[in-house]
Amino acid sequence: MPPKVLLIYTGGTIGMHADPRTGELRPMDLAHLEDQVPELERMQITLDAISFDKAIDSSDMRPADHVRIAEQVGSHYDKFDGFVVLHGSDTMAYTASALSFLLEGLNKPVILTGSQLPIGAIRTDAKENLITAIQIAAAKDEEGNAMVPEVAVYFEYGLMRGNRTVKVHAERFEAFRSPNWPALAEAGVHIRYDRAAILPHRKGPLNVHTRMDDRLAVVRLYPGIRSAWVRHALEMPDLRAVVLTTFGAGNGPTDPDLIDAFREARDRGVQLLNVTQCVGGRVEQGRYGTSVAFRDMGVVGCADMTVEAAITKAMFLMGRTQDADWVQGMKVPFAGESTASSFS
Ligand code: ASP
Repeated sequence: MPPKVLLIYTGGTIGMHADPRTGELRPMDLAHLEDQVPELERMQITLDAISFDKAIDSSDMRPADHVRIAEQVGSHYDKFDGFVVLHGSDTMAYTASALSFLLEGLNKPVILTGSQLPIGAIRTDAKENLITAIQIAAAKDEEGNAMVPEVAVYFEYGLMRGNRTVKVHAERFEAFRSPNWPALAEAGVHIRYDRAAILPHRKGPLNVHTRMDDRLAVVRLYPGIRSAWVRHALEMPDLRAVVLTTFGAGNGPTDPDLIDAFREARDRGVQLLNVTQCVGGRVEQGRYGTSVAFRDMGVVGCADMTVEAAITKAMFLMGRTQDADWVQGMKVPFAGESTASSFS
């Protein structure tokens, strides 16, 4: 029997078309997309497709949509060998990260892909991305197990762990990178998998989590950041977590008033997380004097996690409990999102 793959269409450039009057790109429905790829019928893979009621630009994705996609995977899990999520590239790294946490125990491929040009455009990158993503979602090893039993992003000949990806380019076809983890596969004449980089198989059932708590804020540090602004932002009444995006290995200004603003938030029960603004590398609080205050006030270093992974993981962990100890989960890799042996 040919493998079975479910396409979950959410929107994005891949299925868009240009408004003839204004030239603006707007999402189209699934039928439009399928019409453009007659090749799908020639694949030795049984395809089925479901779609968001209304296709969206991924800039409009919310945590509730991440949950919706996870639930769609969950409700079709036993009937398919793999899943391809068609999604806009703008927030694909967030959705891929969120799914990697929401789909606990996943043992089948969930491959997100999209494109930089609509599928109907002459020079489109959409067809190759779609067709190869489907092949990866259907691929099995010698023992008949899924080749990629995890959430991944396929874009322009590269397969990357979803929660390690960042969108790095607004125009190039090669729009994603996985700076802190090797590619899971490269697609040339053959699709070559790097088995050592892929998560091992998991036994046991899939557990779909359905809550994300968005009571979180992100503060990007920059030279000249004003403590008055930070204090004002952190006074939001129901705030539970703040992701500080910091310089280099987790550093920030040592301005005592700024540090006090963070300390006051911490004293009100807000958990502070430290993620580097650098694309690659990791946070090591205490390596420089400029991160000692963070370490000493209990800011949790997020090692080599991407900002996207840290935000969605915090929302996922907060969704599971009202207790402040959710933050301990940030130090435990759940789905290969961090490589650190210690989280300082
Ligand atoms: N704005 C689009 C989206 O994220 C861009 C894309 O699909 O690449 O939906």
